[in-house]
Amino acid sequence: METTESKIERVKKMLYESQQVVCFIGIGAAMECGAINLFNQDEAYRIEEKYHYSPEEIYSTGFYSARTDFFYRFYHDEILSLETTPNETFHAIRQIEEWGKLRACVTSNIYNLPQKAGIYHVIELRGNIYNNYCTKCGMTYSLDYVRNAKGIPRCTRCGANVRPAIRLNGEMVRNDVMTAAANACQQADMLMILGTNFCDSSVMEILKYFQTKRLVLISKNEHYSDKQATVAIHDEVRKVLPRIVW
Ligand SMILES: [Zn+2]
Repeated sequence: METTESKIERVKKMLYESQQVVCFIGIGAAMECGAINLFNQDEAYRIEEKYHYSPEEIYSTGFYSARTDFFYRFYHDEILSLETTPNETFHAIRQIEEWGKLRACVTSNIYNLPQKAGIYHVIELRGNIYNNYCTKCGMTYSLDYVRNAKGIPRCTRCGANVRPAIRLNGEMVRNDVMTAAANACQQADMLMILGTNFCDSSVMEILKYFQTKRLVLISKNEHYSDKQATVAIHDEVRKVLPRIVW
C-alpha cells in the first residue's frame, strides 16, 4: 500500500510538470465549507418529512413552474439559509491560478465559493444564487433582493417572477457553459477531482473531454470507481490540497 505521503509527492510532481490544470469542485469539497448535500440519504429524509416531497422533486423545473410559492419556501429555508465560506481548498486553487497554471475551476456548487476566494477562471455548471433574473423582461436582481422578498420575488419593472440563475433538475447545462467546460478539459494536462467520484454525472460529463493521464482524485469517501484515477487520496480535500500546493 502506497502511503498518503508518497501519493502527495507524486501529485506535487505532476502539478509541477503541468501547465493547464482543471480543478473540479464536488459536493464533498463544498460541504467542507458549510454547504449541505440535500440529496444524500439523511438530508433527503429530513426534507421529505418536512415538505412531503423529495429534494429531487422540489429542486426541479417542473416543481418550480407548478408550485413556485412552495419552491421559494424551500429555497429560502434550505438553500439561502446556509452560510458558506471558502476554505484552504480554494486558497490552494487560487495559488495554482497565481502561478498561471489554472485552466479552470469547474464547479457544480451554487454558492460562489471559488469567486469568494478570488479565483478568476470559474465555470459553474449549475449557475449560482447570486445571479437572479426576471423571467419575463430579463432584468437582473441581487441575492439580497431575493433573500429579502416575502414569498415569490417579483420584478419591480414588470411584476413577473424573479428566479435564480441556477440549473434545476430537468434543465440542461447552458450551451456556452458546457462548451467552456469541454474546452478547458480538452486543453487540460492535469485534472483534479475534488470531493466527489467518477459516478458524479458532472464529472462523467467533463471527463469525456479529458485526454491525458494526470488524473487525480481527492475525496474523503472511498468509491469503487476511484481506481480510474492515476492517484486517489482519501481524506478531506482541505487537508490534502494545501500539502500538494505548498
Ligand atoms: Zn421584469
